[in-house]
Amino acid sequence: MSVKPVAHAHEGAKFLEEKAHYHFHDERLWDVRQKRDQEMHILPEWQELRQKASEIKEHTLANLPEYLEQFEKNAKANGIYVHWARDGEEHNRLVNEILQSHHAKSLIKSKSMITDECEMREYLEPQGITVTETDLGERIQQLDNQLPSHVVLPAVQKLTGDVAALFAKHYNTDPNDNDPHSLTEAQRQAARPIILNADAGMTGGNFLVAETGSFVVCTNEGNADLSANVTGLHIATLGIERIVPRMSDLGVFIRLLSRSALGSPITQYTTHFRKPKKNGEMHIILVDNGRSDRLAMDDFWSSLKCIRCGACMNTCPVYRRSGGQSYGAVYSGPIGAIIDPTFNKTKYSTLPFASTLNGSCTNVCPVKINIHEQIFKWRRVLVEEHEIPFVKKEIMKMAGRLLASPRLYRAAIKGTNVALSTMPRFILYNYLNPWGKHRELPHPVKQTFNSWYRQNRLKSAQKQSEKGGQVQ
Ligand code: SF4
Repeated sequence: MSVKPVAHAHEGAKFLEEKAHYHFHDERLWDVRQKRDQEMHILPEWQELRQKASEIKEHTLANLPEYLEQFEKNAKANGIYVHWARDGEEHNRLVNEILQSHHAKSLIKSKSMITDECEMREYLEPQGITVTETDLGERIQQLDNQLPSHVVLPAVQKLTGDVAALFAKHYNTDPNDNDPHSLTEAQRQAARPIILNADAGMTGGNFLVAETGSFVVCTNEGNADLSANVTGLHIATLGIERIVPRMSDLGVFIRLLSRSALGSPITQYTTHFRKPKKNGEMHIILVDNGRSDRLAMDDFWSSLKCIRCGACMNTCPVYRRSGGQSYGAVYSGPIGAIIDPTFNKTKYSTLPFASTLNGSCTNVCPVKINIHEQIFKWRRVLVEEHEIPFVKKEIMKMAGRLLASPRLYRAAIKGTNVALSTMPRFILYNYLNPWGKHRELPHPVKQTFNSWYRQNRLKSAQKQSEKGGQVQ
């Protein structure tokens, strides 16, 4: 079956047309980014923490098999069942088997993007098992049949009016009541009976601790604690890269996570799970799903250091203006542009081009992933592997030749300046010029720096150089 590349630019343009949404999205995420900066300035040891976090992750990834085995041994000793899933399909089969063995028909789930990555809901629902998200944002996205839009704020692209309309459709509430408190209450009233009557609970997790065989889940709504404790059966699904060696390492990451994510000093609920509750059962599924392959990629392995704080998304001008849905993937924004092509190079071939490469994502990343450099490297890989359209490739080649030749470049600048000042407007501003759709083309300069230099400085510079002196 041929796979079509995600139409990111097209979807992004559609998002930009929804002016109210776009402005809200842009401002909301920029606000979060600024809060993150304030928190960073409060901590003098911020850069030290980033460095430490990066080193811990790199060390762990370099010794991944040992730490995973240590985790498995200790978790089993704590009474936890540990399972390994090579891919999404194996993960879903395991979950189904566990649920079937308990005759469980309803599963409540707390934020766990890895289950979206494995398409677990699509697998379980035809088997007669209902899956209900307990996180408010995730539930909104579930009701709207959409993937999460952001790793921390899953429904950040929606206005309260959108949520009111959605709840009116599903919960029969007043479509004109878009007060956030009423909406939250409507969700609480609708979700509580489902949660209280569920047969099994599922959570994701932020960190696995090898030393103790325990894992940690951070949420702001406490919904993971509901999913884990309401029923006797708790299934936790985590990617294998989530592991850290020691309990003492956690402090570094917990201090960075919420500050980077939302600009708040700490997540509201940081829950440590170490063993099943009395008369209960706890299962952990450790999922690979392409992570080992990524670990073997020289240029992209360090993306496995990601702690999913979303800071790179909040700061990215392209993400803020195109919205998470335009990426057509479970992971959006700058980190998505690196991770997604490792799942499918053709489908996600457009995403590494959804970046200005300004490096802001790299600057804010708490674990020091060189995000913009990896995005750039993906572009090269995709071109080499013929994953970008022929026309785009040829245009890039021409641009490369132009920029590599000063003579050609100067002639082109001259030609462009003449065109900009003499051509009729409709020739410059038409559908072939997407740049001009949202902005005016720059005014031609009267004189380029190069010609000014030749006119005013070149001769004296040459004389100085002949005398062996310095050019002032
Ligand atoms: S890549 Fe860095 S900034 Fe982006 S989500 Fe991951 S940890 Fe956060």
